[in-house]
Amino acid sequence: MVTKVKYLILGAGPSGLAFATRLKQLGETSFLLLEKESEAGGLCRSKEVDGAPLDIGGGHFLDVRKTKVVDFLFDFLPKEEWNQFDRISKIRTDRFEIDYPYEANIWQLSTDDQIRHLVSIMNSGSSRDTEMPQKFKDWIIWKLGDVIAQDYMLPYNEKIFSGIDINDLGTYWLYKLPDVSFEAILRSCLTKEPYGNIPAHACFYYPKEHGYGEVFLRVANTIKENLRLDTPVKTIDIETLTVNDEFQGEKVITTIPWHEIVSNQSIPNRIKDNIEKLKYTSVDIAYQSKNEATSAHWTYFPSKQLPYHRALYRHNFIKGAQGYWQEINAARTTDDLTIINHNKYAYPLNTIDKPQAIEEVIDWAKSKSIIGLGRWGEWVHMNSDVAVEKGMLLAESFVRS
Ligand SMILES: Cc1cc2nc3c(=O)[nH]c(=O)nc-3n(C[C@H](O)[C@H](O)[C@H](O)COP(=O)(O)OP(=O)(O)OC[C@H]3O[C@@H](n4cnc5c(N)ncnc54)[C@H](O)[C@@H]3O)c2cc1C
Repeated sequence: MVTKVKYLILGAGPSGLAFATRLKQLGETSFLLLEKESEAGGLCRSKEVDGAPLDIGGGHFLDVRKTKVVDFLFDFLPKEEWNQFDRISKIRTDRFEIDYPYEANIWQLSTDDQIRHLVSIMNSGSSRDTEMPQKFKDWIIWKLGDVIAQDYMLPYNEKIFSGIDINDLGTYWLYKLPDVSFEAILRSCLTKEPYGNIPAHACFYYPKEHGYGEVFLRVANTIKENLRLDTPVKTIDIETLTVNDEFQGEKVITTIPWHEIVSNQSIPNRIKDNIEKLKYTSVDIAYQSKNEATSAHWTYFPSKQLPYHRALYRHNFIKGAQGYWQEINAARTTDDLTIINHNKYAYPLNTIDKPQAIEEVIDWAKSKSIIGLGRWGEWVHMNSDVAVEKGMLLAESFVRS
C-alpha cells in the first residue's frame, strides 16, 4: 500500500528538517521525510569520539547573525545550552602563521614579508584596474596579487577542491572575497592593526554539552512520527511522484543530491546530462587525540605537504574535550590518518557551467512539482543557517499561499 502525503521530503538534513518543522508549526501535518541514514542531521551530524563530541561532517558552528534562524533553533536547543565564542582562526603556511582573514593581518608578518605582500598587492591587476580575467587562477592573482595567491589562496583551493582542475571553477561566486586595497593594507601595516571584518562566523554558537548535530536531533525528535530513517530514496516515478513504489506526495521537496535519482528512467536525457554536469567533492574527517598548543578554534593549512586543509581544536571550544579533528579532501586522504567519517557529498562545486545546469534541472523539476531545496537541491555551497532559513521560507510560502 502506498503512503500518501501532501509534502514528501527527501533528506532529513537541516533544510529538510526546517521545512518539515516549520510546516508543522504553521498547522500543516501532511508530510513525510525519507532519510537514508539511521540518524537525522545530514552533514551537521556529530558523534562521540574519545569521550567528547566530534562533528562528522566537518567543523560546524552556528553563525549568530540570522536571528530568525537562531531563535528557531533555540526553540529546540535552548540558548542556555550553547556557548557563544568570538572566532579565533588562523592560517598556517609553510613559512608562517597569521590570523584569519589573511589580508587583514599582513601586519603580523616580518617586515620583509610585509614589503613582499605590499609590493605584490600594489602591482595586482585589480589595484591597477586592468581587465578582469575569466579563468579562476588568473582571477585570484589579478584580485589578490601573486604573493597571497601563491602562498595561500591557490594551494588552499587546490587542496580543498582536489580532484578537479581549479580552472574549471567559475569566478561568479568570488564576489564574496573581500577587496584587497593597497592603501588599507599599508595603513594596517603602519598602525599594526587589522582592518576590515571577518566575513563569516566572527561570532558563533556551539553547544555546551554536545556536538553541533544535537540541535538537529532535537528538531527531528519533534516530528519523529513523520520521519522514516534508514530509508534511502532509490526510485522516483516522476509522473505520479511516487518514491520507492511506497510513498507518494502531491509535491516532492528534494534536499538530496540530484545524482541520487539520476538513474530513473522517467528523467529526460537532457536533464540527466545537466545533473552529470553538477560536480562535488568528498571530505574525510580524521581524529587526533593530542591537544595542540594553540588558542585557535580552527586553523587553515594551505601547505601541499599536509593532506588535510583544516584542523578543528575541540579542546578550545568543547569543555573537557581533548584532541582535534581534521578535514581532508577524500582524494588526498593518507593511510596514517584515523578516519572517523567519509562524506561523499561535501562541497557542491561552483564550476563554470553549474549555474545553467542547475537552473535547467530546477526548472524542469518544478514543472513536475519537485522542488529542489538546500545545499544539494539548489547546488549551492551554503551554511546550515542558510539551509534552515530556506527550509523555513519555503514552508511559509506554501502554507500561506
Ligand atoms: C566541511 C564542512 C564544514 C561546514 N561548516 C559549517 C559551519 O561551520 N557552519 C554551518 O552553518 N554550516 C557549515 N557547513 C554547511 C552545512 O553542513 C550545510 O549547510 C547543511 O548541512 C546543509 O543542509 P542540507 O539539509 O541542505 O544538506 P545535508 O546536510 O547534506 O542533508 C541532506 C540529507 O539528505 C540525505 N540523503 C542523501 N541521499 C539520500 C537518499 N538517496 N535517500 C534519502 N536521504 C538521502 C543525507 O543523508 C542528509 O541527511 C559545512 C559543510 C562542510 C562540508
